[in-house]
Amino acid sequence: MSTVRLRAGHVQPVWAGHPWVFAQAIESVDGAPAPGDVVTVVDPRGNFLGRGYWSPSSAIPVRIVTRDPGDPLDAASVGRRVEAAAAWRRAWLGLPSDETTGYRIVHGEGDGLPGVVADVYGETLSVQFTTIGAKRRQEEIVGHLVRVTGCRAVVETSSERVARLEGFEPHTGVLRGPDVASLEFRERGLALSIPLEVAQKTGYYFDQRDNRARIEDLARDRTVLDAFSYVGAFALFAARGGARRIVAIDSSPAAIATGAALAASAGYADRIEFVRADVRRALADMAAAGERFDVVVLDPPKLAPTVKDLEAGRKAYRRLNAAGLRLVRDGGLLVSCSCSAAMRQDDLQRTIGLAARDAGCHVAVLWVGQQAPDHPVLASFPEGRYLKCVVARVDR
Ligand code: SAH
Repeated sequence: MSTVRLRAGHVQPVWAGHPWVFAQAIESVDGAPAPGDVVTVVDPRGNFLGRGYWSPSSAIPVRIVTRDPGDPLDAASVGRRVEAAAAWRRAWLGLPSDETTGYRIVHGEGDGLPGVVADVYGETLSVQFTTIGAKRRQEEIVGHLVRVTGCRAVVETSSERVARLEGFEPHTGVLRGPDVASLEFRERGLALSIPLEVAQKTGYYFDQRDNRARIEDLARDRTVLDAFSYVGAFALFAARGGARRIVAIDSSPAAIATGAALAASAGYADRIEFVRADVRRALADMAAAGERFDVVVLDPPKLAPTVKDLEAGRKAYRRLNAAGLRLVRDGGLLVSCSCSAAMRQDDLQRTIGLAARDAGCHVAVLWVGQQAPDHPVLASFPEGRYLKCVVARVDR
């Protein structure tokens, strides 16, 4: 097994539990590991730090999978991790249940399986590989996932961009079992069905489950704007919570069409209006027309994809939140989400504060939500807490 030796001054975060070994932290590599081979990571004196898979073309050439020197990272050890991920979700989160049959069963680093993201949609498993090490072990990983979930079909939803960065062939589509045309599941009792050709990421955003539940609780008799709606999940739960009128906006025609079909089958079509539009345009147009909502939800895609984009990202969040705030009626609520890992909680909150200045109102934070617990975060891995959801009262 090859050994990766770290530079002095780059050891502490890894020692303390951060799972990423950046290229600039590496002093030398003993041996000639092939892409995806298991490597041992040591400090400058040769002390064992951990073991992971070798991703030579990545800016993160090793993601630590184990810190146990006795763990060879063989198929059995990967299987134990998959079993553990399933077992604690069953024991502590009650997932799956009759009410919720869609959830994340493996969340990369948070489950000790960097490179693997796996979501269960009823009887279908949707898997993303994000490292060449995980991709090379696809058969055994999928085998373990099928064994613990009993899923009949498996689809791969790996990102093409990530596959190219890691140096493997991008592939999406059915890996095992019958040809599935759509992902069918329930979230807290609501039946959802998403055609595979519409699916973004693994198919659906389970990470917002708890934040949607909060909006459902607040929605009775309210008017709600669901901006960046995808298939309108916030809108559907607001409708179930008794919202009077909901407008859902997304730029994807397929997502909007799917949302409208879901609203019709749930019996909410008369209260949710689905609009295909660029949110930035739509917010400005509605503000100019004097429209106001009791609740405005903003759930944009990553506006600060990496730390390098942070400055531009802050500006984009500020502009978007100011536009959203102009649509909240006096005493109403702004629900402002960010899925940019680089944008930390306090940073987002400060940015919303600046947006309030721009929009001429005051905001007071009531709740701060994050990704649902089937997306766990290692304590020493702040980047893992990517989703923030700030619920704030707006006063003019
Ligand atoms: N709120 C959704 C998830 C939103 S993901 C949920 O709870 O499931 C972000 C969405 O923003 C995607 O559906 C994408 O199609 C949409 N989007 C990206 N840029 C946009 C823009 N400029 N205007 C409108 N929608 C946009």
